Amino acid sequence: MLNKSIKELSELLNKKEISSVDLVKETYSQIEKLDQKLHSFITVKDKNIALKEAEGKDKNRKSDSLIIYGLPFAIKDAYVTKDLRTTAGSIILNDYHSPYNATVVEKLAKAGGILIGKNNMDNWGHGASNENTNYEVPHNPWDMERITGGSSGGSAVAVATRMTPFAIGEDTGGSIRNPSSMCNISGLKVTYGRVSRYGAIAYASSLDTVGPMAKSVEDLSYLLEIMAGHDDYDATSSRLPVEKYSKYLSGSIKGKIIGLPKEFFGEGLDPEIKKTVLTAIKVFEKLGAKIIEVSLPHFVYGVSIYYLIALSETSSNLGRYDSFRFGDKRDLFSNESTRRILLGTYALSAGYADKLYKKAQKLRTILIQEYEEALKICDVLLSPVTPSLPSKIGEMISDPLKNLLEDLYTGTVNLVGAPALVIPAGFSEKNLPIGLQIVGKKFSEGELFQFGYLYQQETDWHKRLPTILKNEK
Ligand code: GLN
Repeated sequence: MLNKSIKELSELLNKKEISSVDLVKETYSQIEKLDQKLHSFITVKDKNIALKEAEGKDKNRKSDSLIIYGLPFAIKDAYVTKDLRTTAGSIILNDYHSPYNATVVEKLAKAGGILIGKNNMDNWGHGASNENTNYEVPHNPWDMERITGGSSGGSAVAVATRMTPFAIGEDTGGSIRNPSSMCNISGLKVTYGRVSRYGAIAYASSLDTVGPMAKSVEDLSYLLEIMAGHDDYDATSSRLPVEKYSKYLSGSIKGKIIGLPKEFFGEGLDPEIKKTVLTAIKVFEKLGAKIIEVSLPHFVYGVSIYYLIALSETSSNLGRYDSFRFGDKRDLFSNESTRRILLGTYALSAGYADKLYKKAQKLRTILIQEYEEALKICDVLLSPVTPSLPSKIGEMISDPLKNLLEDLYTGTVNLVGAPALVIPAGFSEKNLPIGLQIVGKKFSEGELFQFGYLYQQETDWHKRLPTILKNEK
């Protein structure tokens, strides 16, 4: 059943053909069957508690209950929850229980969602492979020897293997998009401020975003309707009204203009990924869109700008885990996080801040202008998600620079604050998933859904099930 869309599940629940209890049982049986191998969860809720919640939902369901009412879901362990511990993937917070829920958790619970557990992640969001977790490294369900992508790798696996119908990720420089692409699901990085960050464990506060991960663009649009909106607890959350995003799931993109930044297809891009993205263009052309070449001259500095800013902010945010409050535990920062704290502190220190941090901020402004100019002449930009295919577990963690380069196409979007949708677009010769990224103007999530939805009407990549599920049958 969990292979069905959110809308289908909701209709079946309304007709009483299935119950929430059935769905929660299926979730747990998938987790029991697969997660010992995949490690997509750090913490799973007690099954009896979840079943009790489901019984309550079945009893209280009304004809106008929201679309996710009674549906199980998972969330990246980067969001604080009252009922379950929150680790951010780090042993430092191994026993941390928050006294409150993140706003996104509250919103989904109010809409009737049933939280099942907390997903694996690179600690503090530091990584692009999910190998930088203090828990078991999750495995890619398409090839068990390979990484899931990161840092929201656990959430991508939970959705890809149909453990839960959807999950919530976090994206500072690509963490929703990268694992969505590597595990063959759809994921959305929202416009900065579209969804409240209250209760999200901060990585880099000017870049962090909260977004949905699901099996299709249609599902994402329903989720954003529930998650988005202003929050008094997050001063950076936008007051722009929340749109009915699902109304964009129709119409046509005839005459719309897609920009291809020429800098995106240069050195470092895996040829199979390049080919897949260029093939996807044909689908959009068939749908009536026009393709033009654009240029983002400062894009080549994107990774450096991103890391100077992200690491400066993370060194400041992680300063709260000091030895007064955390004692020896502070020594438990991973090598990767320690390196990031040191680099960030260096970039902010007197004598270097002008040369490093401030310069990066100036270049960030130039990048924002370049993206804005490009998006004046086209409706969306099309791009690869990551430069490489999912690597073998162990490869990336031993090559930190490669890890950083994975953010080539995603990190600049966070610097700019724009929204970006990732959808499955094909497979490599070794049957590894390849995604496609569509970037839009700020607050144009609806338009991105339209492009993505129409693409998914023409293709069936997003419906393909991972190898591990096929082997189960
Ligand atoms: N890979 C990027 C980094 O390590 C992005 C992480 C994220 O989006 N949380 O900074």
